[in-house]
Amino acid sequence: MGNAAANLDTLDADLSPGALATDPDVVEKYRRDWTQSDAAGMPLGVVRARDADDVQAAVRWAAAHGIPIVPRGAGSGLSGGSCAVDGCIVLSLERMRTVEIDVGTRTAVVEPGALNVEVKRAAAEHGLWYPPDPSSFEICSIGGNVATNAGGLCCVKYGVTTDYVLGLDVVLADGTFVRLGGQRIKDVAGLSLLKLFVGSEGTLGIVTRAVLRLVPAQPPAATLVATFATVEGAANAVVAIGAVLRASMMELMDAASINAVEDYVTMGLDRSAGAMLIAQSDAPGAARGEEVELMQRECEAHGAKECFVTDDPAEGELFAAARRAAFPAIERRGALMLEDVGVPVPLLPELLGGIADIAARNRVEIPVVAHAGDGNTHPIVVYPPGDDEARDRAALAFDEVMALAIRLGGTITGEHGIGRLKRAALPEQLGPEVMALTHRVKAALDPQGILNPGAGF
Ligand SMILES: Cc1cc2nc3c(=O)[nH]c(=O)nc-3n(C[C@H](O)[C@H](O)[C@H](O)COP(=O)(O)OP(=O)(O)OC[C@H]3O[C@@H](n4cnc5c(N)ncnc54)[C@H](O)[C@@H]3O)c2cc1C
Repeated sequence: MGNAAANLDTLDADLSPGALATDPDVVEKYRRDWTQSDAAGMPLGVVRARDADDVQAAVRWAAAHGIPIVPRGAGSGLSGGSCAVDGCIVLSLERMRTVEIDVGTRTAVVEPGALNVEVKRAAAEHGLWYPPDPSSFEICSIGGNVATNAGGLCCVKYGVTTDYVLGLDVVLADGTFVRLGGQRIKDVAGLSLLKLFVGSEGTLGIVTRAVLRLVPAQPPAATLVATFATVEGAANAVVAIGAVLRASMMELMDAASINAVEDYVTMGLDRSAGAMLIAQSDAPGAARGEEVELMQRECEAHGAKECFVTDDPAEGELFAAARRAAFPAIERRGALMLEDVGVPVPLLPELLGGIADIAARNRVEIPVVAHAGDGNTHPIVVYPPGDDEARDRAALAFDEVMALAIRLGGTITGEHGIGRLKRAALPEQLGPEVMALTHRVKAALDPQGILNPGAGF
């Protein structure tokens, strides 16, 4: 480390003025993502890159000295993926924020630090739409979205980040710059290397520019809000609706998350409900009303206590905002271990029932919010901070929820990534052959293992 510290001068000389920060107060701010993990290490310094040249210079320097690089977007990750390791350089892309809309190709050409919301806004100025909408869309970057293959609320109909990535510029582990894909809708030349980097969590390369597909602005949506006495009733309604139509949003909140949100921001949600579904249809013309009617019928058939329907987009947005407030609201209830497990949609009731059993058996609270239409749930294991015994029970419950998802043919992460929190469970899901293949790909692209070590796999 002493040697590397001395050599930071040579790194500084290769970068834009002011890009390297070693001031402990500044460095401290870049050590953790949203998980606020205690395990985060101490970086040598932070490079806040101005352009791809800075990224290349930092990676070349790190490769020459065998120093780990932890890429970082906006630090909103929920799996510890951008948490620092000891002696690393945190490579922050937050200053690379240009967004250019190309109407002719209906693409956005975006630097990685641009926030998701900034791309949406720029597209909207041209009557266009960038669909992927993580709940964190106002605070997460496109680079982070690409690296985690982020999902969100409208993904049930419109797909996830990878479905919108047409091109990427990537700096590889030896500093080589590659341009993959571009503004072409169709392009099958060569191996599909572009998609290898989507969801690779900063372990294979650093994204320095993305070309994103845009679509026409979303038609106005009608919203259905249904409350149920039980989570099972709501989950059965989701399965029934998913079998007959593709909603543009299908979110579920259980009783604990409804009450947590209501404690956090008074919205008049039904505190006595066992679960609430927030569903939307943005189908054109009369089909919209028909879809909402069909959704309402299925909810009622599965025991909905109450159904509320609105055509008013502002009213619909209020309910979506309640769902988006769930994480910050539940965060106030204690220390958290956040899950992101998913199953094929028809198995959603079984997953949710199993999670309730795990909570009861381990005597922990596990509120659940879910992108239910995707079968992707966020059970959140809550325990009192500072209580080691409760923490152990919470950790057991956390592992049991992942094991349950795998047993049901599901996944341990639908959108947040493996990061540093879920690595231990990955081999169980993927199996030895796929793990070995994963390691071969990593060894080919990053033989020194300097890119985000300890994250992903
Ligand atoms: C309240 C809240 C709600 C959320 N809701 C959702 C949701 O609905 N759906 C969802 O998918 N996620 C959600 N998230 C999680 C998070 O916002 C996403 O994972 C997001 O994609 C992370 O982006 P970021 O810019 O903050 O990345 P970071 O947290 O900085 O990094 C995430 C990962 O990407 C890597 N990385 C970042 N930039 C680059 C780059 N340019 N090149 C290579 N690797 C890079 C990092 O090394 C790390 O592994 C939520 C988070 C919060 C706090």
